[in-house]
Amino acid sequence: MAARPSPYLDELNPAQRAAVEALDGPVLMLAGAGTGKTKALTARIVHLLNTGRARPNEILAVTFTNKAAREMKDRVGRMLGHGAEGMAWIGTFHSISVKLLRRHAELAGLKSNFTILDTDDQIRLLKQLISAENIDEKRWPARQLAGIIDHWKNRAWTPRNVPAAEAAAFNNRGLDLYDAYQDRLRTLNAVDFGDLLLHVVTIFQAHPDVLEQYQRWFRYILVDEYQDTNVAQYMWLRLLAQGHRNICCVGDDDQSIYGWRGAEVGNILRFEKDFPGAQVIRLEQNYRSTPHILGAASGVIAANQGRLGKTLWTDAQEGEKVRLIGHWDGEEEARWIGEEIEAMQRGTRGNDPISPDHMAILVRASHQMRAFEDRFLTIGLPYRVIGGPRFYERLEIRDAMAYFRIVVSPDDDLAFERIVNTPKRGLGDKAQQIIQRAARDAGVTLLEGARRVVSDAQIGGKGLAELRRLVTAVDQWHARALAPGQSHIELAEQILDESGYTAMWQNDKTPEAPGRLENLKELVKALEQFENLQGFLEHVALIMDNETEDAAEKVSIMTLHAAKGLEFQAVFLPGWEDGLFPSQRSMDESGIKGLEEERRLAYVGITRAERICTISFAANRRVYGQWQSALPSRFIDELPEEHVDVLTPPGLYGGGYGAAAPSTVEQRAASANVYNSPGWKRLQERSATRPMAQPRESRNVVIDLDAVSSFSIGDRVFHQKFGYGTVQGIEGDKLDVAFDKAGPKKLVARFVVAAEQ
Ligand code: ATP
Ligand code: MG
Repeated sequence: MAARPSPYLDELNPAQRAAVEALDGPVLMLAGAGTGKTKALTARIVHLLNTGRARPNEILAVTFTNKAAREMKDRVGRMLGHGAEGMAWIGTFHSISVKLLRRHAELAGLKSNFTILDTDDQIRLLKQLISAENIDEKRWPARQLAGIIDHWKNRAWTPRNVPAAEAAAFNNRGLDLYDAYQDRLRTLNAVDFGDLLLHVVTIFQAHPDVLEQYQRWFRYILVDEYQDTNVAQYMWLRLLAQGHRNICCVGDDDQSIYGWRGAEVGNILRFEKDFPGAQVIRLEQNYRSTPHILGAASGVIAANQGRLGKTLWTDAQEGEKVRLIGHWDGEEEARWIGEEIEAMQRGTRGNDPISPDHMAILVRASHQMRAFEDRFLTIGLPYRVIGGPRFYERLEIRDAMAYFRIVVSPDDDLAFERIVNTPKRGLGDKAQQIIQRAARDAGVTLLEGARRVVSDAQIGGKGLAELRRLVTAVDQWHARALAPGQSHIELAEQILDESGYTAMWQNDKTPEAPGRLENLKELVKALEQFENLQGFLEHVALIMDNETEDAAEKVSIMTLHAAKGLEFQAVFLPGWEDGLFPSQRSMDESGIKGLEEERRLAYVGITRAERICTISFAANRRVYGQWQSALPSRFIDELPEEHVDVLTPPGLYGGGYGAAAPSTVEQRAASANVYNSPGWKRLQERSATRPMAQPRESRNVVIDLDAVSSFSIGDRVFHQKFGYGTVQGIEGDKLDVAFDKAGPKKLVARFVVAAEQ
């Protein structure tokens, strides 16, 4: 069949083109960051459509985030020259699974309007089960059980096929509780996140006719970020692709960063075994980054052992070296980055102006975000937080959504529990127990149970009248939700008003109340983009990001994990300190596995940058209200010198903002750790051409810290963790110190400073 003129093919290099044109049979595209894997995958979809191999809804394309799915759809639309109408099956594993499961819910013992639980609901449910079994929740917390169950689901293990070796989990009760949990979910007509895939895989396995229908329907399967699929996802794919084997996966083993969530990089290596005769295509030219950025990233990842190894090159202009800078503390780091962003935006750094839309701050841990949010709010720099603590996780939003849930699915018991006494209706624990019992005895939902309690007048006084009102109201809202022509936006407003929920916050005098009311308004606004409440609830259960849609150009703040697949002209990578990045957990582990995953994360971070990449660390950080000193990350040592420029820090180190030098003895003690670390010393050597000044204030303190002779018995000293104390003895480079509060300790002399008291 003659293809239409196809400019999208001309934009590709020969290897990419080969991957696009090899339409039939299994194809694996295995290549480093920025080599155009996603671009080629998108072109492949266009090519499938243009050559008439498949209709839009016969292509199944799996992306890592919903945002990536939207972008892919948009790009396909643009390449086609008309919209990507009918491409119904581009999405994440989860969003596609929801659709499949709604169609076949009955095969999993569910109704098609099942609810998707969030973590909170899940934990609440597990708590109930744990206490029903008389297990001590303090010793065996629900969160731990949730983790175990999730782990099993990621491996596609139902309660019936959890291997014997694993069954000892959770004090030998894990498996029974898992079984009970799944039963309970079924009764509630609910699923958790892990179930979405597990149920679909189970249905495919148990119902070959259903599987076959989809094997025929999805003529071509494409998967981006294949290195991060877990076993359940892998089985899901393999089942669907088994018939025609038209599957194309793209990935990069160096970017596998979800091992902690059950992803198995081994899936890539198994591909050729599972799909014999697969074409493996390697891409080597990077189109995203400058040679310095690429060099720095390659230098870091080279320290990993378990790699397939690949060549990466670019013909981009040399550009700037990766910039490295140390700060006194996290606030200083945020202030400096804020100023850099403004300077880059104005173009006063000697660069072409860069829009904040093309800048990002990528953090290792979400608690790092707050410093940036605070700072940017202060200086009025627009930003968006992607991922992290989300709008939809706020208390008032979750309450409001529980109302919507019970209206859409009256059998949603968890939603009922959440709203029955919110706002306060005089339906305390006792009344709720009566409702629970009524429901349990009759084997009905809580809403039904409540109805019986009302008709039999099983509770008295104000509670009874209130419960009657609530039950009647839910019935009415439910009827309205089903009525043709009823606007779901109006309905949502009515629900919040008639339930007394809005009034509850209007009458609340706490400082947070106005913000909560704003959020509720924002929630109703968000409904506008959906056809009905159910569609909206589904969306919320699935979203991974909370971008606001207004026009201002904004800097993005997100975790490194959320940045996968994205690119920005300028990238800031703050917090490169041992214990933060790499995480303490990965450093404490015995093997190298955790550390290697952190290093891949560093590689992902650096390779997001197109032109300017700035890595920073702080000598001190406040973590959960405590000051902690930190050493520069070991990954900093791995950055090849020729690709890095060490900047002189401002403020503290003799620069411009007049930031506070470490003036208190506590601060000096914290800095003692840093300035004596091998990493810091190496940094200073490396920046010999642009000397990195010692902190003005602390110079006289820090200089002789190595020399034990600077202490005598009877000296007052200060240690960052133990506080003030008196030197009792000196032995080699160690001191015996009697701390005022912490008692006697033996420590290395360089970790304490003299206290002028
Ligand atoms: P990652 O591993 O980070 O997901 P990737 O391999 O998916 O990266 P893409 O995001 O597809 O890479 O491409 C990186 C950048 O290179 C994009 O801006 C893309 O438009 C550009 N690019 C890819 N291929 C080409 C090409 N042949 N010619 C010009 N630009 C290209
Ligand atoms: Mg990509």
